[in-house]
Amino acid sequence: MDKEQNQFSETAVCALCGERVKVKGLTRHLASCREAHPAKQGKRERTIFTLKVCGRCEPGYFLYLEMTDNMTLDDLDGFLRGIWLECCGHLSQFIIGGEYYSASTEDDFDLSDFGMPENKDSNVELGKVLTKGLAFGYEYDFGSTTELSLKVVGMRQGRDAPLKEPVVLARNDPPEWVCTNCGKPAVRVDSMMGYGTSKDNVFCATCARKREKADECGFLNIANSPRSGVCAYE
Ligand SMILES: [Zn+2]
Ligand SMILES: [Zn+2]
Ligand SMILES: [Zn+2]
Repeated sequence: MDKEQNQFSETAVCALCGERVKVKGLTRHLASCREAHPAKQGKRERTIFTLKVCGRCEPGYFLYLEMTDNMTLDDLDGFLRGIWLECCGHLSQFIIGGEYYSASTEDDFDLSDFGMPENKDSNVELGKVLTKGLAFGYEYDFGSTTELSLKVVGMRQGRDAPLKEPVVLARNDPPEWVCTNCGKPAVRVDSMMGYGTSKDNVFCATCARKREKADECGFLNIANSPRSGVCAYE
């Protein structure tokens, strides 16, 4: 964790007011900023969740998401795949209070065939599984697994219009990597040199090309995601 700290900015942009805010104060800022900048209103009272999602081992990658109670864990799964994870259509699951909820994309697929615990269907509304302050987990790909930590950092009642996909309230700036070889800004990660993206396996385009000629390597473009440098993600 230490070695990653300086790659990540200490501030992030709040999508509601456009201001830069200290990452450490984001939860508090977003709660009060939402009061000053209310969401589009709908017809009926509902529960609105603010979720913080981050890499379990790489917490510098984070998302603050707003979701309404009409949405399901499947909606969240699909969104996380789109913004952070999807490479080859791997399986995924949420782990909430010791229960496993796996995405229902392949209905006849049973994880217990693979020695995994019997799973619940993630086509379940958030209001049925989330509570204030609840911390839970998520895994994408059971081989080269990307583990995420999630927490319900905000929960309120309101007349917000139902959302179709999560609203990104804040996201970490892309981390700034420098080439292991020459110190110029890095854009490529060699996935054969270790798991994920770290100071030790990132290169500028020129050094990456040289390396590709000389050595066996598996270069991917660096992405702003905890799955950067894993499997085929770029
Ligand atoms: Zn704000
Ligand atoms: Zn993959
Ligand atoms: Zn270089």
